[in-house]
Amino acid sequence: MNISHIEHIGIAVKNLEDSIKYYENILGLKCYSIEEVKEQKVRTAFFMIGQTKLELLESTDSEGPIGKFIEKKGEGIHHLAFAVKGIEEALVEAESKGIQLIDKCPRKGAEGLDIAFLHPKSTAGVLTELCEKKNI
Ligand code: ZN
Repeated sequence: MNISHIEHIGIAVKNLEDSIKYYENILGLKCYSIEEVKEQKVRTAFFMIGQTKLELLESTDSEGPIGKFIEKKGEGIHHLAFAVKGIEEALVEAESKGIQLIDKCPRKGAEGLDIAFLHPKSTAGVLTELCEKKNI
């Protein structure tokens, strides 16, 4: 797989506005975008640090993936996202090496990226997202 850097770290939070205050007022970062991703039942807030982002995720539905995560584990780091060149090939390669895929094909995530998740059961416990920015 051709990974270039950590694209973002996904952090599950109970309340987006309260959490943004911590990152802005204490860490001195600036939230540059808030976006709702309806199909994932989340609202997201983004911060840029170098070429890596933080993605805060607030559930809009307790039955959604972040709602369930917070109910089970509470707030905290939810997933790690790597920027990859050739996401389709990366998924084929991962599957051929026995990795359990959550997404067999890339789908649209926040910020228009093509994204796909690998199951934490086969990634040493870390929910792993691959993402690729396609220049269209
Ligand atoms: Zn993500």
